[in-house]
Amino acid sequence: MILGGGPAGAAAAITLARAGARPLVLERQRETGDAICGGFLSWRSLAALGRLGVEVAGAEAREVRLFSGTRSTRAPLPEPALGVSRRQLDSAMLRQAEAAGAMVERGVHVREADGRHIRADNEAFWAERLLLATGKHDLRGLARPKLAADPAVGLRVRLGPATALSKLIEGAIELHLFDRGYAGLVLQEDGTGNLCLAVRKSRLNEAGGPAALLQEIGREVPALGERLAWLAADAPIDAIAAVPYGWRTAETSGGIYRLGDQAGVIPSLAGEGMGIALASGVMAGEGAIRGETAQAFQRRLAGRTRRPIAIASAVLAAAERPGSAAALVKLMRLAPGLASLLARVTRVSH
Ligand SMILES: Cc1cc2nc3c(=O)[nH]c(=O)nc-3n(C[C@H](O)[C@H](O)[C@H](O)COP(=O)(O)OP(=O)(O)OC[C@H]3O[C@@H](n4cnc5c(N)ncnc54)[C@H](O)[C@@H]3O)c2cc1C
Repeated sequence: MILGGGPAGAAAAITLARAGARPLVLERQRETGDAICGGFLSWRSLAALGRLGVEVAGAEAREVRLFSGTRSTRAPLPEPALGVSRRQLDSAMLRQAEAAGAMVERGVHVREADGRHIRADNEAFWAERLLLATGKHDLRGLARPKLAADPAVGLRVRLGPATALSKLIEGAIELHLFDRGYAGLVLQEDGTGNLCLAVRKSRLNEAGGPAALLQEIGREVPALGERLAWLAADAPIDAIAAVPYGWRTAETSGGIYRLGDQAGVIPSLAGEGMGIALASGVMAGEGAIRGETAQAFQRRLAGRTRRPIAIASAVLAAAERPGSAAALVKLMRLAPGLASLLARVTRVSH
């Protein structure tokens, strides 16, 4: 049984169903929504999706642009990536899971777990193998620890669509660094710009909320301010609280496989959270089929995510402080190969 039909849960469902199992996915959303996510799919994630038989269309990104204050630089990505909405990705993955033979029950909100006994609103289940893929949302009984004194908050707004905006940002993933946070911007398939922020709670509180923060950082990073001109006054701002960046576990209890963000959370500026989700789903599915224990799987996954999460955490720590963020931009300008190297070493191996 798989809890959650995001990239991790869906990848596991496809893998298990293709091997002849009939996994059941419980997904709380009745309609596939647009999860808070930058939508940057790396070349490695795209290859993983290809192996799963999942096709997506989006806006190609071939370079990374880095901004801090009035400084900026650009560098090529090792290989082309894609900006894709989560609505498109999650829909395509769940369709593929069902086509392969998985059962997907939508609108089932699992409320808590007691080991492998789980309780949804009107039902209770026991699972021989429980694949926990609830992602950004913790499940009572299996929640991740709360670590940071000043946790990161994820925010997302859409810019445009507008031809002038597309011209400005097409072909790139942009990272705008500001005091205690960053904003990532990439075009997606419908021509809108997906602007996702990870910001420390202290900064958000000081600003007086998300709308005021956007105004502040638009002044702090003028290039970002220019792009925020395409933010409609009534555009919704989606938020997710307390993202435990850097957390990773090699431990689990009997029969419980922790996948995706429930196994480890890579700082999102690396654009590899979905890569880890896909890799973990495939690894768990393949492992379960050959009788690998949940504990052995968890250690294997933690081994693969150690380096990308450690390096991305170090980059985030530098990017969140104005002094070191400016130094990062300067360094990347002097050595554009560094960005490409960082982009490579923050990928998870599949
Ligand atoms: C601000 C921000 C920007 C990001 N940008 C990027 C990026 O550009 N590229 C990238 O690769 N990664 C990015 N990430 C990370 C990425 O979003 C996650 O790593 C990835 O979504 C994890 O996939 P998942 O399947 O583990 O979980 P999720 O994508 O969170 O999916 C979990 C699923 O489980 C369902 N669910 C949750 N709770 C329950 C429940 N109790 N019962 C039933 N169903 C439930 C949810 O509805 C959802 O469908 C970003 C993250 C943040 C916070």
